Parts: sequence; structure tokens; C-alpha cells
Amino acid sequence: MIQDINPLQLNNHYDPNIKADDDSPVVVYSEKSFLLAVNEETGEIAYPHLSELEGAAESDLVYIFGIGDEMFFLFLGNAAGLSYDRSRFSFTDFSKVRSKFFLPKHYVYAAFTALHLAEWYDVTRFCGKCGSENVNDKAERARVCPKCGNKIYPRINPAVIIGVTDKESNRLVLTKYRTGFGHNALVAGFTEIGETLEETVKREVMEEVGLKVTNIRYYKSQPWGMASDVLAGFFCDVTGDTEIKMDDQELKYAEWNLPEEIVLQPMDYSLTNEMMKLFKEHGYGGTV
Ligand SMILES: [Zn+2]
Repeated sequence: MIQDINPLQLNNHYDPNIKADDDSPVVVYSEKSFLLAVNEETGEIAYPHLSELEGAAESDLVYIFGIGDEMFFLFLGNAAGLSYDRSRFSFTDFSKVRSKFFLPKHYVYAAFTALHLAEWYDVTRFCGKCGSENVNDKAERARVCPKCGNKIYPRINPAVIIGVTDKESNRLVLTKYRTGFGHNALVAGFTEIGETLEETVKREVMEEVGLKVTNIRYYKSQPWGMASDVLAGFFCDVTGDTEIKMDDQELKYAEWNLPEEIVLQPMDYSLTNEMMKLFKEHGYGGTV
């Protein structure tokens, strides 16, 4: 999955005392794109180091996380005011970063995570209560309003990924979205205010494919910065009628699949793909 970068680890402990130096990688994000050096032949990407960005003031940089011994900073200023070697660095759309096998993998994971933080910093420039300009809190990852004291923490949207299984026939429900991502997926959806994750599982399965489920069992979770999510994967068993009634507003395909029929996603980044792969290799028995 995207977060599997062993032996490296993401260290997201908030420490405002960590200062950028010339060699610090800087994430410059603007309009869904990252400033990167992309080597199309080797598939390698690189972030600019601070020394390669002219016009990036220290006050425009915020420490976001460390990976290995590299400390990543997010540039919060106006990207149009930066000077850099344009023969080496250019803005690369995030959709390209996520859809190719770029290396090193931990830089791709850094992009997913930096995207989540960049979007949060972008939408919290001003206080939602009084409209004043927020500042960064000194002790924790938060935005605070100097006028009214309103504090805003990073927003993480909980969502579930659901492998609906039929023990009797050893099949799994696969779906395809009507628009956007074109590959096989599983039933999925956001948790609504006031419900448990297990209730989200039941509601989403009923809404998307019209099935009742039982024996809901947790599998694994995944941070998914591109939608500001944390995803929780569950398997569950269909109960009663197994006939699928697809929500054709959201989906264009929803069918029961035998393990050998499952076609995986091209990128092995997602929890969804890992869950489909588990069923493809081990069938129902792999999910219990
Ligand atoms: Zn305020």
C-alpha cells in the first residue's frame, strides 16, 4: 500500500522548532500540482531543496513531516513568486504522480501526505468564526485565530472500504464508479455524522448494491491524503437475498466475482487493491 515504505517511516510528530536548511526538500503545491524534477526515463521524482528555490522566505515554510533523515517543509507562500531552474523543475499534476510507478516510493507517499496537509492549510487561512487571518499554533498542528481564539485541527474524513463476501459461492462484490477512477473497486463511502464505522458499512452496502450484510470484520486501515481520508477496510458476509441492486447514479458496474475472475488495479497503492488481491489469492478463507 502507499504507506508501506519499509525500512523508512513517516515521522509526523509536530515540532515547530525544526528549521529548514539548504538541503531540506520543499513541497511546493499549487492547483493540484507539485513542483518536481521528473525523470521520465528512470521514473524518479525529486523535490526541490530549499537552496534551489529563490524567494522562499523562512516565514513561508512549515515543517510537515520527516521520512528517514529528510525533513519535509511545505511552502505556504505564493508559488508564482519563486525562482528556480525551469529546465529541471516543473509543476506536475498529482494525478500523474499517483498513476505511474514513480520512484522512490516514499516520495510518492510524501506527495499523498503533503497534499492532504497542503489542502488543509489552504482552506484554513481565515477563521471561520470571525474572518480574521489565522496563524499557526506554536505547540501543535493547528491553526488558531489571534482575534477570537478559534482553533482548527487538521481535518481527516473517515471512510470505509468494504469487501462484501458470499461464503457459500466464494465470491466477492466488485464495483466500478460511473465517473473518474476506471478500474475495479470495492463498495466504499464516507462515514456520516452520528454513525459508527460498522453502521457506515451496512448503509453503504445497502445504498450501493442493495445487499444486507452481517459478520462485519475489520481488516486494515490506510491514510489516503488525496481525499483527506483515513480509510478503514472491512470484510462482511451477505445475508439473505444475494441479488445485487446497483445504484446506477454512482456505479456503472457491480457484480459478484470468483477469485479467478478478479482483475486487480494497475497500481498496488490502495487498501482496496490489497483486499481484492487477498480474495483473489485466498478466496473467502483469506478474509476470516
Ligand atoms: Zn476568529
